[in-house]
Amino acid sequence: MKESYLYKRINQSKISCCLCSHRCIITNDGYGKCNVRKNIDGKLFSMNYGHIIAENIDPIEKKPLFHFLPGSLSYSIACPGCNFKCFFCQNHQISQIGKGEAENLGLYYNPEDIVEKAARYGCQSISYTYTEPTVFFELAFDTSIIAKEQGIKNIFITNGFMTKEAIDKIEPYLDAANVDLKGFTDDFYRKYAGARLEPVLENIRYLKSKDIWIEVTTLLIPGLNDSSEEVKAIAKFLKDISIELPWHISAYYPQYKSSIQATDTKKIMEAVGIGKDVGLKYVYAGNILSNDMEDTFCPDCGKLLIKRRGYSILENNIDNNVCKFCKNKISGFF
Ligand code: SF4
Ligand code: SF4
Repeated sequence: MKESYLYKRINQSKISCCLCSHRCIITNDGYGKCNVRKNIDGKLFSMNYGHIIAENIDPIEKKPLFHFLPGSLSYSIACPGCNFKCFFCQNHQISQIGKGEAENLGLYYNPEDIVEKAARYGCQSISYTYTEPTVFFELAFDTSIIAKEQGIKNIFITNGFMTKEAIDKIEPYLDAANVDLKGFTDDFYRKYAGARLEPVLENIRYLKSKDIWIEVTTLLIPGLNDSSEEVKAIAKFLKDISIELPWHISAYYPQYKSSIQATDTKKIMEAVGIGKDVGLKYVYAGNILSNDMEDTFCPDCGKLLIKRRGYSILENNIDNNVCKFCKNKISGFF
């Protein structure tokens, strides 16, 4: 366990955690909503520090990040726990854990071990992913400092519910993030994720204002967040931040406590069309088989820039961040 980097003492026995927008008030011996932060004698501790519960060498396209080092590998790790309670969570075995469980889960790695493995496996980045990096912030932070020293990039795959203090602290070391925007109503966030919409919207704006590359992902769940109105509202929100912001619209499949049927491919294609009609330059379909909806096209000359199949890159016509054909600048890190 490790003393938390972001908390305030309210009095001798009460603490306020400043890592995520729940801002849990935790009394002595109590845990926060994520079940991995505990008040021990007036100090807040991360109980999952170094407890690696998942590790993989993933193509960066799997995160998904399409405009950040395409074709590279990302050493992807998670510690147990999450600050959300999504009833459709595909990683629920490692995200939805009880109080006191994190301490006995996973294998212990220290930050040096993680960076050494990333380098050994030829990964250009480390992704803090699968659960929620905010709830293993201290490990991600310590690791990202060492990774940066060694020229390895740091990526958060996040639900975007962290506090501004957390973003400010990790900003010097964080290179990219994919933020989930799970829906566009507070009702959706409260009912289906145990969270709130507004902090996520604020954080997408805030992250974009920083020197951090961001892409956004929305999982379309039939009947819950897939109406044309809601999809259009999300697209407009993203467009107002930047028309260059890549948006991934992914098909959902039943998981965990959800028995809602899988998203119809047609719905995903319609949503991608809405995103493009609203004016976003880069809108991608995820989790479906399609001919070209995962490909990147030059918004200027319309030519194919990156051809993807699954998580593989079949063709890349971006040279030093410009389209090989018309020399238009393409946003991202290529
Ligand atoms: S990380 Fe979030 S959920 Fe966990 S204790 Fe802190 S404020 Fe609460
Ligand atoms: S935020 Fe992600 S990891 Fe956490 S419960 Fe939701 S889907 Fe699962």
